[in-house]
Amino acid sequence: MSTGDVARRSPLAVTGGRNPVTPASSLADSRSAELYARALTLLPGGVNSPVRAMRAIGRDPLFVARGEGCELIDVDGNRYVDYVCSWGPLIHGHAHPEIVKAVTDAAALGTSFGAPTPGEVEIAAEIAARVPSVEMVRMTSSGTEASMSALRLARAATGRDTILKFAGAYHGHVDGLLADAGSGLATQGIPASPGVPAAAAKETVVVPWNDTDALVAATNHYELAAIVAEPYPANMGLVPPAPGFLELLRERAAHNGALLVFDEVISGFRVAPGGAQERSDVIPDLTIMGKVIGGGLPAAAYGGRRELMERIAPAGDVYQAGTLSGNPLAVAAGLKTLELLTETAYAQLARTTELLADGLRDAIRAGGWFGRAHVVSVPGLLTVFFRRDRVRDYADAADCDRDAYAAWCRELLARGVYPPASQFEAWFPSLAHDEVAVERTLEAATAAFAALPRGAGA
Ligand code: PMP
Repeated sequence: MSTGDVARRSPLAVTGGRNPVTPASSLADSRSAELYARALTLLPGGVNSPVRAMRAIGRDPLFVARGEGCELIDVDGNRYVDYVCSWGPLIHGHAHPEIVKAVTDAAALGTSFGAPTPGEVEIAAEIAARVPSVEMVRMTSSGTEASMSALRLARAATGRDTILKFAGAYHGHVDGLLADAGSGLATQGIPASPGVPAAAAKETVVVPWNDTDALVAATNHYELAAIVAEPYPANMGLVPPAPGFLELLRERAAHNGALLVFDEVISGFRVAPGGAQERSDVIPDLTIMGKVIGGGLPAAAYGGRRELMERIAPAGDVYQAGTLSGNPLAVAAGLKTLELLTETAYAQLARTTELLADGLRDAIRAGGWFGRAHVVSVPGLLTVFFRRDRVRDYADAADCDRDAYAAWCRELLARGVYPPASQFEAWFPSLAHDEVAVERTLEAATAAFAALPRGAGA
């Protein structure tokens, strides 16, 4: 699941079991339905990560048989142009032959050793060469683990406990980061999920994104170990920073004595080779990475300046470990993925995103939704917000017409396009999305807008 604030995405709105909403689609999904019925008896909610259940768009999940390039093929044989792409890792699309070969070659040599391998040194060097803030890297198996560990390091380095995060940002399901804002401009967090100790949430201060006054107030009031931010937040839909806001983060962190931690799990290696920090020239103290660096296998990492990273065991005293950290299959997939991310590749991804974003703007107009929906994009990421006015923070994102977004997504699925099943997620175009795929998407998108019930979203 690529979710932020748990409460706002809670499936409670749609009670357990099969979803009562009938999809407005002609999709044949009987095999998916059978599998889902069985899965519901074996897996909580029938899935291994909540957003996959598609409850936010009022339908049941589609079970996937395979992926080919930019396409997903479900167990009923339906083909979709896929804009989830595993929620970000598949920047080269599904089953890229060179990545598959790198993984199978690595597997033939043994799948895990619990001892160092040459690839780990190589991928650390590749990451350090690309990401401006990174001199040293520690690999983990998930983004959650990486952010939990980066925050431990920030607390050790500063001798402080409190973390500042932004409402609507997601940094994995780390206890202290599953915190919701209370009332007021900048508040100590309250647990966003049962099971999160109040004490853990209390060490988190939650501030609205892009809110200069709240940030200044919080950084004047609290002694912080870290300010943690997605520099291009993409877990409330894509909500880029207002001009100057990332610079202000840097300045306020320095003023406070806190470390600035960028969570580039989504933006890293996607919006530019060195992520959002390269595009913005704002250099954090620590960076959390994931998704693309695993090339579709489980890998994530955190990194930063040498003297900070050398606090990590066994170089230093801050403990953190992992049986499968730096797993050779994941490292092989990640290395090949990075090798294929040339300058030309980034130019192509930017062009594809722009084509798609412009085309979706036209589709909004042609489908009669001008003034009720708009598109936000940066290279490699976009969101269609069902709202007239620009989205600046989580409160604005929550104000979108989510029922209309859900209906539009069901219409897209019926027309062979697989969108992220939540208004709070970004679309992930890949290098496998060619002009033909984009054209197919835009035809479907226009028809899907036109098919929405009259008055929806008004
Ligand atoms: N940070 C961000 C910005 C994310 O989007 C995610 C997950 N989508 C995570 C951290 C957590 O990563 P993982 O799901 O690998 O634990």
